[in-house]
Amino acid sequence: MKDAIVFLGIQGSGKGTQAELLAQHIGFLHVNIGDLLREQVSLGTEIGAEVKSIIQKGELAPDEVVFGLIDTRLEACCDGVVFDGFPRTLFQAEFLMHHYRVTRVYYLDLKKSEAIQRIQGRIVCSQCGTNFHLRNHPPQKKGICDLCGGKLFTRGDDSPSAIQKRVAAFYEETFILKSFFENKGMLITLPATKSIKELETMILEDIKLG
Ligand SMILES: [Zn+2]
Repeated sequence: MKDAIVFLGIQGSGKGTQAELLAQHIGFLHVNIGDLLREQVSLGTEIGAEVKSIIQKGELAPDEVVFGLIDTRLEACCDGVVFDGFPRTLFQAEFLMHHYRVTRVYYLDLKKSEAIQRIQGRIVCSQCGTNFHLRNHPPQKKGICDLCGGKLFTRGDDSPSAIQKRVAAFYEETFILKSFFENKGMLITLPATKSIKELETMILEDIKLG
């Protein structure tokens, strides 16, 4: 059974950044389910066609699709995984507990209003995938990526109505995961308002303690 570390948090809490940093530090694979699904869409696979409209509406992809993608991706890989964007439901959490040795669950705590503000200005490079933010991390030239010169765009699932739906889905379904892992004594809550560097340090110190 492989090790798994989970990052929970509302969209915009920075869990993707921290998951990636931690995965690099400890040599685990960083798995973002949203990115995996979008990759399927852009590759035009059968799964991609199935989830395309679901993602655009801001709804959750079916569990069997998500589980299938995870299994395929991890078959011949590293000792462990850092999950971000998974699990999103209690059913997925149970799946996780049966398939992995879950060692840590980090919850990046962020107020709803701040989360919406962070997501709304998000823009991404069409070529290299680098994220920018209209207010917090603007590119030097409007609409152009600093790194590769590619065009920046707002993702379809970052439209205002899709954001509202995702935020609502988070509170309706995913928030109970916090209690689920808390009851198992696995949950570590971190303030998402800290800087990227501060959070990175807090997480690395915690890992060493474990
Ligand atoms: Zn770029």
